[in-house]
Amino acid sequence: MACTAFLSTLLPKLSPESKVLRDAESPDFQSSMRRWSNYKLKVPFAIVQPANENDVVQTVRGAISASVPFVPASGGHSQWSSIDQSGIIIDLSRYKGVTVDAANNLATVRGGTRMKEFQAALHPHKQFAAVGNGSTVGVIPYYLGGGISTYTPFVGYGSENIVAVKLINSDGELVEVSEKQDPELFWGVCGAGQFLGLVTELTIKTKPYSLLGNEDGQRMCGTYIFSMHSFDVVCAALETIMGSTEYVSAGHIMIVQAPPDLKEQVLLVAPQAFCSATEASKLFQPLVNVGPLQQMLVPSTFDKHSDHLDWVCAEGDFKRFSQAGLAGWSTRNFKHLAELHSELVENCPDAARSGYTVEWHTPCRAKRELKNSFGNENVEYWLNVLSWYTDSANHEFVDTMDHKAQAAMREGSEEAAFVSYTNCTREDPIEYRYKGIGTVDRLRSLKKRVDPTGIFTRELL
Ligand SMILES: Cc1cc2nc3c(=O)[nH]c(=O)nc-3n(C[C@H](O)[C@H](O)[C@H](O)COP(=O)(O)OP(=O)(O)OC[C@H]3O[C@@H](n4cnc5c(N)ncnc54)[C@H](O)[C@@H]3O)c2cc1C
Repeated sequence: MACTAFLSTLLPKLSPESKVLRDAESPDFQSSMRRWSNYKLKVPFAIVQPANENDVVQTVRGAISASVPFVPASGGHSQWSSIDQSGIIIDLSRYKGVTVDAANNLATVRGGTRMKEFQAALHPHKQFAAVGNGSTVGVIPYYLGGGISTYTPFVGYGSENIVAVKLINSDGELVEVSEKQDPELFWGVCGAGQFLGLVTELTIKTKPYSLLGNEDGQRMCGTYIFSMHSFDVVCAALETIMGSTEYVSAGHIMIVQAPPDLKEQVLLVAPQAFCSATEASKLFQPLVNVGPLQQMLVPSTFDKHSDHLDWVCAEGDFKRFSQAGLAGWSTRNFKHLAELHSELVENCPDAARSGYTVEWHTPCRAKRELKNSFGNENVEYWLNVLSWYTDSANHEFVDTMDHKAQAAMREGSEEAAFVSYTNCTREDPIEYRYKGIGTVDRLRSLKKRVDPTGIFTRELL
């Protein structure tokens, strides 16, 4: 009843380009509900698709005053951008865009802009930013919650690169937040912004391609596939690459089932280096010496940053993605991870597309100010658990294996040092997600000030 009344008062306030979708069977509604994963996907009472910033403000303001719960949706890669029949989804896909101010090394990103669209907007200006590894991931939520990037060695994490925010607060007001305007809220938004308001616009630092060592925004990308028999020598070879102080590198070592038949477990090593082809060949030579089953070394430019990972961005099925920060590399723990991946696939053949991965980047070389709440800026190794399956009967088992994978890679660390990535979990203790003395208390008192009733999630309350 509250939703119906709210929508009828909202409609006249929206621009003609916006849409309100009520019929769950309609193609527009179903298209809006398509997500990276169907895990915990809920069907809302209605979907509002604002077409401009004022539409978003009117929608949030109206929903707050009618006490209608809502969730924003940008790229749809999390399990928190849908809601049940009690509320509405504010789907930002019709409101998006990027303005580049290359002279000042800045870009402003609006609404539901996705990662690849951001890259495409920066490319003609020969500018890069701390983008993530998923072409369809929403830029704003990614930056708000941390932003783990291949470009972190040059510019730090995404949250460190936010310079200004336009946010709709729990009074339904559109406010500008920066280091000068409400510095405490700015600190909180840069790391925990999804819990503090709906962000309509982010202004982000960008950098010229020349910082990457060339004018084309280019890096060298290797792909090396190995039999599991070579496990120890591959890990030893990779350690020399990850530990190189001469070159900036980043990449993934994945435990996956070999395509196309997904029958055999293999190691897929995908190192990337910011250097010439000749230098990359030299850097990656230890991997070549092991004797890969398949290998490739190609250049890639910033606009195509994560095209090679587009298969992971496929919509549908049941998928979960968790990321846990690691203190460093451990071949012993990684071997345990491979055993757990085997156990997953043996017990759930429908989960054969799952991949257990460690991602690394060399330490950040930039001078950093770290005026943000993210708190995990010095983590250089991340466990990425991608669980991808189709049978709903396997939810619990997949979940158990995900937790076992995290425990295996945390072996040898004190619990106080456990790091969970807030963009991927709302279940792990808040102390795992936000590090630094007093960070959690400071975030909690900020939440109490700006969103005491939990309009933008109950996190931090
Ligand atoms: C395939 C894949 C690759 C990934 N790669 C990386 C990576 O390389 N690095 C990395 O750091 N992370 C990565 N992630 C994690 C990713 O950063 C988070 O899942 C991110 O929150 C997804 O944003 P989204 O817009 O796609 O998702 P959504 O589900 O649309 O949104 C995520 C959350 O933010 C809220 N939200 C949406 N829009 C707004 C807004 N404008 N203001 C406030 N809140 C909002 C939603 O309600 C939801 O709670 C990846 C995830 C996947 C699945």
